[in-house]
Amino acid sequence: MATAFPTRPNVSTTPRLPDCNHYLDRTAATPLVPVRLDADGPTIWCKLEFLNPSGSTKDRIAGYILHKAVRTGKVAPGGLVVEASSGSTSIAMALASAQLGLRFIAVMPEGVSRERRLIIESYGGEVVFSPKAEGILGALAGAEAVAKERGAYLPLQFENPDNPGAHRSRTACEILGQIPGGCVDAVVTGVGTGGTLVGLFEGLCDHGCSPTAFAARPVTGAALGGAGAECCSFSGRIPGVVDGLSTIYTRFRTERAASLVELDVPDEEAVELARRLIRKGFPVGPSSGLNYLAALMVAQRLGPNAQIVTVFPDRMERYFSTELFNQA
Ligand code: PMP
Repeated sequence: MATAFPTRPNVSTTPRLPDCNHYLDRTAATPLVPVRLDADGPTIWCKLEFLNPSGSTKDRIAGYILHKAVRTGKVAPGGLVVEASSGSTSIAMALASAQLGLRFIAVMPEGVSRERRLIIESYGGEVVFSPKAEGILGALAGAEAVAKERGAYLPLQFENPDNPGAHRSRTACEILGQIPGGCVDAVVTGVGTGGTLVGLFEGLCDHGCSPTAFAARPVTGAALGGAGAECCSFSGRIPGVVDGLSTIYTRFRTERAASLVELDVPDEEAVELARRLIRKGFPVGPSSGLNYLAALMVAQRLGPNAQIVTVFPDRMERYFSTELFNQA
């Protein structure tokens, strides 16, 4: 008999949420699969987050944050949500807003791909552009201004504790129910807001594991083996991931997570590894290559019996026009 898919922990529904068409709290857990690319290489446990409804791990935080905001009255039914993000979070928030009957505006730096804009607009969202030169900080300032002017709810993924909270209470629990023996020795991911890594680490600790948390820092060729992180901007080659410990990232540090270990990972090899994963049938984006490469490096440190978990955050289709497909 087929084994039933484990479901995500139930999120209580309230009479204020639509009682039809609403599926975000009914989707199955994403698979956690052992991946070994080379016959004599280590096995890494990979959480297939690209299988979330909008195609990325950001569905975790979008559903959790917006659902909670409606439940606690931070946003009224039919209310307006504004988020700054150049990528997956805006798309996930647009989908979750459509599901929850909310209106949504994404503030994005000019120059993001046409596809991203079209996806958001197809979910009924609106896109407002901030100056390209100001990057994500310009988008954050723009979101604040729009929210003030139009009385909107700002989820603020970079500082909202419900961002790591979503991974702590759900993704980590899924992993513990899926990995043999319920024990994780290391959790490894690249860092954007830091919500995934800190949330997974905290959630695993909550249930009696004591994993080491490794933050994968993409480093370009010559900078490898250098003096360590000085910069903290978003990496060009690995979208969604910062190339150093940023103040944004440290916002989610807690007492327990104070021992996060930073790992330099060559970004060109990471992109090549993402291509290899795609050829094996994992339709992933560049950050999955980064995460997998970082996990291989951790496996070398911890030895063959270590249970190492990483995440495949998003899908390859978002990167057709980039270096991943030799288009940049
Ligand atoms: N977006 C993508 C596509 C990523 O690969 C990652 C890194 N795993 C992130 C975002 C960053 O996640 P977080 O904001 O939770 O650190």
